[in-house]
Formats: sequence, structure tokens, C-alpha cells
Amino acid sequence: MSVRLVLAKGREKSLQRRHPWVFSGAVARMEGKASPGETVDIVSHQGAWLARAALSPASQIRARVWTFDPTESIDIDFFERRLQRAQQWRSEIAQRDGLDSYRLIAGESDGLPGITIDRFGQFLVLQLLSAGAEYQRPVLVSALQKLYPECSIYDRSDVAVRKKEGLPLTQGLVCGELPPELLSIEEHGMKLWVDIKSGHKTGYYLDQRDSRFASRRYAQDKRVLNCFSYTGGFAVSALLGNCREVISVDTSQEALDIARRNVELNQLDVSKAQFIRDDVFKLLRRYREQGETFDVIIMDPPKFVENKNQLAGACRGYKDINLLAFQLLNPGGVLLTFSCSGLMSGDLFQKIIADAAVDAGREVQFIEQFRQAADHPVNVAYPEGLYLKGFACRLI
Ligand code: SAH
Repeated sequence: MSVRLVLAKGREKSLQRRHPWVFSGAVARMEGKASPGETVDIVSHQGAWLARAALSPASQIRARVWTFDPTESIDIDFFERRLQRAQQWRSEIAQRDGLDSYRLIAGESDGLPGITIDRFGQFLVLQLLSAGAEYQRPVLVSALQKLYPECSIYDRSDVAVRKKEGLPLTQGLVCGELPPELLSIEEHGMKLWVDIKSGHKTGYYLDQRDSRFASRRYAQDKRVLNCFSYTGGFAVSALLGNCREVISVDTSQEALDIARRNVELNQLDVSKAQFIRDDVFKLLRRYREQGETFDVIIMDPPKFVENKNQLAGACRGYKDINLLAFQLLNPGGVLLTFSCSGLMSGDLFQKIIADAAVDAGREVQFIEQFRQAADHPVNVAYPEGLYLKGFACRLI
């Protein structure tokens, strides 16, 4: 008989609403023995079958649901079905928007908790974040090899969250060819170099694709400051939108070097682009002292919040940089500001921006809203899937 996690009384509600997580506090007992990542049945206090899930003994999220269908077993066919379902939507977006790179699997939102797969041209980059995802690695890889015989697979499971699951960090070639030092991808008519092996995340921030595209419309003849530029996607967008000048700031010299090469790759005027290695918090203060001003500021910081204890500090951080940005904007200028911290709700982020505007002594309007691109869908049962929020704010 299969191993069962029996829930405490009344704790079946979230699963009945198809939320895919079982927290440790919701579990009354485990019947039978299972190793990390193995598939177990989740049953209510009364013994009613609820879901089939992967066990994460080391994590507060004790189990992640693979299926709510009692007839579905977790085997290669299951992974093939999930992959094909996800591919259908990505193929539509890829054709519609002329993409050769996209998020193929967005974890929980695609019914594959703990699994991220990004496609860059002929390379599939895997990130396995949970014990269940790791346990199923061979099966998942077999499914991928069957469905994508033309693709190479590279593992970038070198992410700190794996420690919460008791997993080591891993990275390397799974099958096919080793990715080149830089691979060029296409995004809304621009080309970009991506470093799969040592870039951030799986190599590139695909989730900001549509915001980068939208940002072009604000650039005409403008002086643009691109904070937290990484490899310069927003800088290339600004240049394609005919900006007068764009200054990109990041602490990573490797990222800035690629940013410069991305401007060249698109045959844009490098003399209009500057790349500054600095801490955004410090540089903005220095610009304020020097009386520098900008027409457009892009503020796309890394995740400031990993857990609830960091939320207050993160709020201060977001307020600080956005307040400084408002002070550096010319009248009529636009701030494009983002938060990719899942624990920061859209409402809270909006309040922080509003507070920053008031404290900066500026009158500001919200004029446009952004979110992660459509290849990062949000399952309605899993609102946590919406992690990236953004606003265009205009100084009156
Ligand atoms: N806007 C980028 C993605 C930004 S990711 C894009 O469209 O692709 C966040 C970036 O912030 C990373 O490149 C990281 O190196 C950089 N970073 C982190 N802390 C920083 C700081 N204090 N000052 C400047 N850059 C920082």
C-alpha cells in the first residue's frame, strides 16, 4: 500500500481549492515510510483521498501536489502530458511574439511544483527546486529527451533554496552539447547574448520581456537611467526606442560587459550608451548631490525578500531607491519600477511607491501596470505564482 500523509482535522480546505502545497503544520501523521521526494497520497483526517504529492521531509512545505486525479500515476507519461500541455501555450506565444526563448515550465503554475525549465534556442535549462523535482529528475529528463530530441539539456540547479529541501547545489550538462560561452536569443525583434552556464538564474530574466518591450515607447529623445541593468535588455530597448542617451548601472562587471556587447549585437550606437559598475543605492545619492536629472528611470532590482522576516527591510529598500528616483526625474519624466519579490503584494508595492513619491515631495501619477510575461502564467489556485509587479509612474 502506498504511503499516506494524513492531514489534521479541517486542513483539507486549501487542497480542495487545488492549492498545491501541504504545510508541515497541516499534517497529523504519516502512515508508512518514504524517502525524500517520493510520491505519497494525501488524505483528509477522515481518510478521504485528496491528492498525490511529493514528500519534502526537510521543508516547511512538507508535500507538493503532482495531481488531484486519483487515477493519474506519476510516471513518464504524466511528465510528458504536463510538458505537452505547457508547450501548447508557449508555442502560441512564441509564434505570436517571434520568440525563440521562453519559460517552458513555470513550476506550480504548470502543475509541476519545484520545476523550472527555460528554453533558449536549442537549449533546455533545468532548475529543480524541491525534493520531489530532484527525485523525479531521471524521469523528467527522459520525458524531455523524448519530446525534444533536437535539444541539449543543461542543469542550473545551483540555487540556494535547494538547501531548504536538504539538497546540494548542482550544475552541468545533462545531455547533448555544452552551451556556448554566449548564445544569442531573439526577443521582440532584439537580439541578446545569454550566458547559460554562469549567468543569473538560468541565464536571462525572461520574465521582464514584455516590460522591456513596453519601455521602448517611453524612450524617444529621452535621457534614460537603467538601474540594475544586468545584461542591458532595457538599455537595448531604450536605444531601439531612439533614446538620446542610456546609462546602465549594475554591480556585476560580467553583466555590464555583456550589456555593451548586446548594444553592438543590435548594431545600435554605442556612443549613446554608458555602463557603470556601481551600487545603485550609492550612485543615486551621488547623482542627487551632483544635480543629475533624467527623463526616464528604470528600476528593476533583484529580489529583496526571501522570507517574511525580511519584508520590513525590503520595504525600506524599495522606498529608498524609488524616492531617490523620483527626485532625479525631470518634470514629465517617467519611472518604470518593479518588484520581483513574491512576498511583496502588488497592493503593498503600490503603497510603497506612493509613499516614496510623497516623501520625495513630488506629484506622481500611475500610468501603466506591468507583470511577468505570459510564458510565466499564474495558476488561479496558486496566487503566489504572481511574483513580478511593476508600475509606470509619471511626474506631473
Ligand atoms: N533589468 C534586468 C534584470 C535585473 S536583475 C533585465 O532586464 O535583464 C538584478 C540585477 O541587479 C543583477 O544584474 C544584479 O547584479 C544587480 N544588482 C544587485 N544589487 C545591486 C546593487 N546594489 N546595485 C547595482 N546592481 C545590483
